[in-house]
Amino acid sequence: MKQWGPSTSAIHSGVEVDASTGAIIQPIHMSSVYVQPEPGEFKYDYGRSMNPDFYPLEAALAALEHADHATVVSSGVGAMSCLLGLLDEGARIVMPTDVYGGTYRLFQRIFAQVGIRIEQIDMTDLDLVDKALRGGSHTTILYAESPTNPLLFVYDLREISIIAKRYGAISVLDSTFASPIFQNGISLGFDVVLHSCSKYLGGHSDIVAGCLMTNNLEIKQKLDFTRTSMGLHSDPFTMFLLRRSLKTLPLRMARHQSNAMILAEYLEGHRMVRRVLYPGLKSHPQHHIAVRQMHGFSGMMSVEFDVDTSAVSKLIAGFRLFTLAESLGGVESLVEQPALMTHMKIPANIRKAHGLADALVRFSVGIEDAEDLVDDLDRALSALSPSKID
Ligand SMILES: *Cc1c(COP(=O)(O)O)cnc(C)c1O
Repeated sequence: MKQWGPSTSAIHSGVEVDASTGAIIQPIHMSSVYVQPEPGEFKYDYGRSMNPDFYPLEAALAALEHADHATVVSSGVGAMSCLLGLLDEGARIVMPTDVYGGTYRLFQRIFAQVGIRIEQIDMTDLDLVDKALRGGSHTTILYAESPTNPLLFVYDLREISIIAKRYGAISVLDSTFASPIFQNGISLGFDVVLHSCSKYLGGHSDIVAGCLMTNNLEIKQKLDFTRTSMGLHSDPFTMFLLRRSLKTLPLRMARHQSNAMILAEYLEGHRMVRRVLYPGLKSHPQHHIAVRQMHGFSGMMSVEFDVDTSAVSKLIAGFRLFTLAESLGGVESLVEQPALMTHMKIPANIRKAHGLADALVRFSVGIEDAEDLVDDLDRALSALSPSKID
């Protein structure tokens, strides 16, 4: 059967009319426990391991990512925690220098504490990827994030997945910034794709959830087993909201991206801006790779303003529509300063070595009217600049 397009999948995949009532919207099963007609005879037993709400949602998530299987979990970090079930003694994780702060904390503080070796490399350099994976005798996870948070690096995912395959590493991609609408890591050769569903997939800043997708049944079973064993499940109401949100994902993503493109071009031309990091701009160092492997450039960008570090917070305080908050991917525009907020968990010297300036400002561009967003930036920047007579 021909695969549905993303907008059709977003609405129809996994959806079945409720047989007992005819309800077109699937009910929420809040029950934590299920009756067994005979001891050990059941379809569902207990809410930590199985719930009828998991499956329709997982079917939709898998369809959107063009994957065979999906596992829905408690959060994006919960999805990474699930990877523990794929590792054994002496295992390694090779990941980029620029990653989400919570990923750094989980791997470098918790996984490393139980003996998993963590290596961070510059993944724009494929020779370094090859060197890091070559010759390891233990299980290795090649963990990529692209585009990265917050520096918007774009890695050559097809080439990286080929190198991982060559050395028998399990390749995992955090595709949160792109969403399944703009990037499909399984089609690019990755074994596992994960998302923080708290971001674009949820899209309304009202849930915390995560998911992992794969075409490999053995990996899917291990992830499910780990979810149950470690208590990483999602709750029924969150799953309901997530399934509801997915219906508008393609529409929302199109608007996030068109707004972001307008703002990126506006900011790039502004005299108070040093550089704009947005994969959709021709000036982005990996723009050519982004064009090849993404279907769009999403709504995240980071900006270095040509102002004193001390003036950055004043600038942010001047925004009316860009609210100062962590997180991203919701309908409302947000702004944050990674070095002081999301990435504060990374020691200052390491942030500096990786190119994350204290003055860097990250924007999650929402789906408001682009004109209003440009006006907001324009007004705040003008208020900051000393009056100039041209
Ligand atoms: C937010 C985020 C995560 C973590 O997701 P949670 O749902 O907050 O646990 C992982 N990766 C990226 C790129 C993120 O932005």
